[in-house]
Amino acid sequence: MRAFVVAKDGTTDDLEGNRIFFSFQNFKEQVCVKGSCFVCGAPHSRKKFNDEHVFPDWVIRRCGLQNSKFTLTNGELVPYTTYKIPCCQTCNTQLSAIYETPISKAFHQGYEGLLKFMQDGNASLIKAWLSLIFLKVHLRDFKNKVVLDERLKLGMIGDHYDLHELHHIHAVARAATAGVAINDNVFGTLAIFKIESSEDDDGFDYCDSLTGRGLLLRINDIALLHILDDCGGTAGMLSKRLEVLPHPLSQLQLREVYAHHIAANVHIRNRPVFRTEVPLGKQPQISVELPDFELHEYDPSVFGSLFAGVIGTMIAHIVVDGAKGDEALEKIATGQVSFIFDENGNVRRESSGRGH
Ligand SMILES: [Zn+2]
Repeated sequence: MRAFVVAKDGTTDDLEGNRIFFSFQNFKEQVCVKGSCFVCGAPHSRKKFNDEHVFPDWVIRRCGLQNSKFTLTNGELVPYTTYKIPCCQTCNTQLSAIYETPISKAFHQGYEGLLKFMQDGNASLIKAWLSLIFLKVHLRDFKNKVVLDERLKLGMIGDHYDLHELHHIHAVARAATAGVAINDNVFGTLAIFKIESSEDDDGFDYCDSLTGRGLLLRINDIALLHILDDCGGTAGMLSKRLEVLPHPLSQLQLREVYAHHIAANVHIRNRPVFRTEVPLGKQPQISVELPDFELHEYDPSVFGSLFAGVIGTMIAHIVVDGAKGDEALEKIATGQVSFIFDENGNVRRESSGRGH
C-alpha cells in the first residue's frame, strides 16, 4: 500500500521522498522564486540539473528555429535554444518519455495523424503537454525583468503574477511524473486547426493569456488551442458562434478564434474548484468541483480588446473599413470586427476585415 507524508502546509511526499503535491506556498517559494526543479522540487544542491527547454527542442528543430530569436514583452531578444527553466536530469528525461517522444511522433504524421492520435484517447496527454508549455513560459518570467532599464526597480515579470491559477496548472502538467491521476472533468477545451501556410513566416507561433488561461500553439500548418481551466465550458459557449469555420484558417482568423475562446473563459462567473486528493491506499488524483454554470453578461469589448492584443505585427497587413494601423486596431477592440464572418454571419471568402 502506498503511504504518504503530509507536511504542515499540505505538501505531500510518498515514503520514497517523491513529491506528490506542492502546497501553494511550497510551489511559490521553491519552484517560482528559488528555482528548484520545477517537476520534483529538488534544490540544485541535491541533484544534477540540465534544465528544460521552454519550447521543446524538437519543436525548435522542426520549425528551423535553431538560430532564431524571439522578443520578450520587455523588448529583450532571446534565442529559442537557450530559453530554459531549472529542471533536474531525472525529471527532464521523464518529461521527454511522457510527453515529447509520443507527441513529436504524432506531429510527424501531419494534421490528420495528430487528429487521429487525439481521437485515439490521447487528447488528455496533449492537454497536459500544453499545460506544461504554458507553465514553463510563466515560470521563466521569474527571470525576465519587467523593464530592461536597471534604474527602474520593477523586478521580474513573474513577481507580479497571481499564482493561484498557475499552481493548478503546475499540478496538472507534472501529475504524470508523480503517479497522480487526473479526473477527466478537470481538463479544459482543446481544438486543433489546419492553418494556411505563408511565405514570410517561420512556422512557429505561440501566444497565451494568464487572464484567459488559454494558449495558442502553431507548428507549421497545425495549430492547437487550449483553454486550461474551463472544464469544457468555452467549447459549449462557442459551439453556435464558431460552428462553421474556414478550413484551413488564415493566421489572422486563428487569432480571432483564439480570442473568442479566452474571452469566453473570462465570461464564466463561477469557476471550477480543483484539488489534489490523496485517499489512503489509493492513487492520488486531481479532481474538480463543478459549480452551476453562470456567465457574466456578454461584453463584446472583452473579446475585442483580447483580439486586438494578439494581432501583433499582423496589423501591418490589415485594413478595417478603410482604416489602418492604430485606427484599425481601435475598431477591432470594439469587438464588432470579424475576419471570419461577414455581416450576415456567413464565412468570408477573402480575409480582409469589416465591421458589422
Ligand atoms: Zn526533478
